[in-house]
Amino acid sequence: MHCPFCGAADSKVIDSRLVADGSQVRRRRECVECRERFTTFETAELVMPRVIKNDGARVPFDEEKLRNGMQRALEKRPVGIEQIEESLSHIKARIRSIGEREIPSSVIGEYVMDALRDLDEVAYVRFASVYRKFTDVKEFGDEIARLREVKL
Ligand SMILES: [Zn+2]
Repeated sequence: MHCPFCGAADSKVIDSRLVADGSQVRRRRECVECRERFTTFETAELVMPRVIKNDGARVPFDEEKLRNGMQRALEKRPVGIEQIEESLSHIKARIRSIGEREIPSSVIGEYVMDALRDLDEVAYVRFASVYRKFTDVKEFGDEIARLREVKL
Protein backbone atom coordinates (compact mmCIF):
# COMPACT_ATOMS: atom_id res chain seq x y z
CA MET A 1 0.00 0.00 0.00
CA HIS A 2 1.00 3.64 -0.48
CA CYS A 3 3.22 5.25 2.12
CA PRO A 4 1.13 7.60 4.30
CA PHE A 5 4.17 9.87 4.77
CA CYS A 6 5.53 10.44 1.28
CA GLY A 7 2.95 8.72 -0.93
CA ALA A 8 5.43 6.27 -2.45
CA ALA A 9 3.64 3.40 -4.14
CA ASP A 10 5.51 0.63 -2.39
CA SER A 11 6.16 -0.47 1.17
CA LYS A 12 7.56 -3.68 2.51
CA VAL A 13 6.26 -5.77 5.38
CA ILE A 14 8.87 -6.08 8.12
CA ASP A 15 6.76 -7.84 10.73
CA SER A 16 3.46 -9.66 10.67
CA ARG A 17 1.56 -11.23 13.51
CA LEU A 18 -1.87 -12.28 14.64
CA VAL A 19 -3.67 -10.11 17.17
CA ALA A 20 -7.15 -9.91 18.69
CA ASP A 21 -7.43 -13.65 19.26
CA GLY A 22 -6.27 -14.34 15.74
CA SER A 23 -9.04 -12.40 14.07
CA GLN A 24 -6.64 -9.72 12.85
CA VAL A 25 -3.23 -9.51 11.25
CA ARG A 26 -1.07 -6.65 12.37
CA ARG A 27 1.61 -5.68 9.86
CA ARG A 28 4.55 -3.43 10.43
CA ARG A 29 5.55 -1.83 7.14
CA GLU A 30 8.44 0.25 5.95
CA CYS A 31 8.36 2.64 3.04
CA VAL A 32 10.92 1.74 0.40
CA GLU A 33 11.43 5.43 -0.40
CA CYS A 34 11.49 7.44 2.85
CA ARG A 35 11.98 4.50 5.27
CA GLU A 36 9.17 5.68 7.54
CA ARG A 37 7.40 2.86 9.34
CA PHE A 38 3.69 2.38 9.84
CA THR A 39 1.25 -0.29 10.98
CA THR A 40 -1.72 -1.77 9.21
CA PHE A 41 -4.41 -4.04 10.59
CA GLU A 42 -6.10 -6.56 8.37
CA THR A 43 -9.45 -8.18 9.14
CA ALA A 44 -11.79 -10.34 7.13
CA GLU A 45 -14.65 -8.30 5.79
CA LEU A 46 -17.84 -9.85 7.04
CA VAL A 47 -21.27 -8.52 6.45
CA MET A 48 -22.44 -6.40 9.33
CA PRO A 49 -26.10 -5.72 10.06
CA ARG A 50 -27.49 -2.33 9.20
CA VAL A 51 -27.88 0.10 12.05
CA ILE A 52 -31.27 1.44 13.11
CA LYS A 53 -30.78 4.95 14.41
CA ASN A 54 -32.95 6.44 17.15
CA ASP A 55 -35.07 8.27 14.55
CA GLY A 56 -35.70 4.97 12.72
CA ALA A 57 -33.35 5.67 9.83
CA ARG A 58 -31.29 2.70 8.60
CA VAL A 59 -27.62 3.35 7.96
CA PRO A 60 -24.68 1.10 7.10
CA PHE A 61 -22.58 -0.09 10.02
CA ASP A 62 -19.68 2.33 10.38
CA GLU A 63 -16.64 0.81 12.04
CA GLU A 64 -14.67 4.04 11.77
CA LYS A 65 -17.31 5.89 13.72
CA LEU A 66 -17.21 3.23 16.41
CA ARG A 67 -13.42 3.41 16.58
CA ASN A 68 -13.48 7.21 16.79
CA GLY A 69 -16.01 7.12 19.61
CA MET A 70 -13.89 4.71 21.59
CA GLN A 71 -10.68 6.61 20.94
CA ARG A 72 -12.34 9.82 22.07
CA ALA A 73 -13.43 8.17 25.32
CA LEU A 74 -9.95 6.69 25.76
CA GLU A 75 -8.05 9.90 25.02
CA LYS A 76 -5.00 10.27 27.29
CA ARG A 77 -5.85 6.98 29.01
CA PRO A 78 -3.32 4.15 29.42
CA VAL A 79 -4.91 1.90 26.82
CA GLY A 80 -2.96 0.88 23.73
CA ILE A 81 -4.18 0.88 20.15
CA GLU A 82 -4.04 -2.91 20.04
CA GLN A 83 -6.31 -3.22 23.07
CA ILE A 84 -8.75 -0.89 21.35
CA GLU A 85 -8.61 -2.95 18.15
CA GLU A 86 -9.12 -6.14 20.11
CA SER A 87 -12.07 -4.63 21.90
CA LEU A 88 -13.51 -3.50 18.56
CA SER A 89 -13.34 -7.03 17.18
CA HIS A 90 -15.18 -8.29 20.23
CA ILE A 91 -17.89 -5.70 19.76
CA LYS A 92 -18.23 -6.60 16.07
CA ALA A 93 -18.38 -10.29 16.91
CA ARG A 94 -21.18 -9.58 19.38
CA ILE A 95 -23.05 -7.52 16.81
CA ARG A 96 -22.78 -10.30 14.22
CA SER A 97 -23.68 -12.99 16.71
CA ILE A 98 -27.20 -11.68 17.15
CA GLY A 99 -27.79 -12.91 13.60
CA GLU A 100 -30.17 -10.13 12.64
CA ARG A 101 -30.01 -8.03 9.50
CA GLU A 102 -30.55 -4.86 11.50
CA ILE A 103 -29.48 -3.75 14.96
CA PRO A 104 -30.59 -0.71 16.97
CA SER A 105 -27.77 1.78 17.56
CA SER A 106 -28.71 1.73 21.26
CA VAL A 107 -27.71 -1.94 21.46
CA ILE A 108 -24.33 -1.13 19.89
CA GLY A 109 -23.96 1.67 22.44
CA GLU A 110 -24.50 -0.82 25.26
CA TYR A 111 -21.88 -3.16 23.77
CA VAL A 112 -19.41 -0.29 23.59
CA MET A 113 -20.09 0.56 27.22
CA ASP A 114 -19.52 -3.07 28.23
CA ALA A 115 -16.22 -3.06 26.37
CA LEU A 116 -15.08 0.25 27.85
CA ARG A 117 -16.02 -0.88 31.34
CA ASP A 118 -13.50 -3.70 30.94
CA LEU A 119 -10.84 -1.50 29.38
CA ASP A 120 -10.82 1.62 31.49
CA GLU A 121 -13.14 2.98 34.13
CA VAL A 122 -12.58 6.63 33.28
CA ALA A 123 -13.24 6.05 29.59
CA TYR A 124 -16.37 4.17 30.47
CA VAL A 125 -17.74 7.01 32.57
CA ARG A 126 -16.81 9.52 29.85
CA PHE A 127 -18.60 7.54 27.19
CA ALA A 128 -21.60 6.70 29.34
CA SER A 129 -22.08 10.31 30.39
CA VAL A 130 -22.27 11.43 26.78
CA TYR A 131 -24.15 8.41 25.56
CA ARG A 132 -26.76 8.23 28.27
CA LYS A 133 -26.90 12.03 28.45
CA PHE A 134 -26.94 12.11 32.23
CA THR A 135 -29.34 14.84 33.13
CA ASP A 136 -27.97 15.69 36.53
CA VAL A 137 -25.06 15.14 38.85
CA LYS A 138 -26.98 12.61 40.92
CA GLU A 139 -27.56 10.35 37.96
CA PHE A 140 -23.87 10.55 37.15
CA GLY A 141 -23.01 9.67 40.76
CA ASP A 142 -25.41 6.72 40.67
CA GLU A 143 -23.66 5.36 37.61
CA ILE A 144 -20.27 5.62 39.27
CA ALA A 145 -21.64 3.91 42.40
CA ARG A 146 -23.05 1.15 40.21
CA LEU A 147 -19.72 0.81 38.50
CA ARG A 148 -17.92 0.37 41.83
CA GLU A 149 -20.35 -2.40 42.73
CA VAL A 150 -19.71 -4.17 39.46
CA LYS A 151 -15.95 -3.92 40.06
CA LEU A 152 -16.29 -5.41 43.56
ZN1 LIG B 1 7.45 7.04 2.32
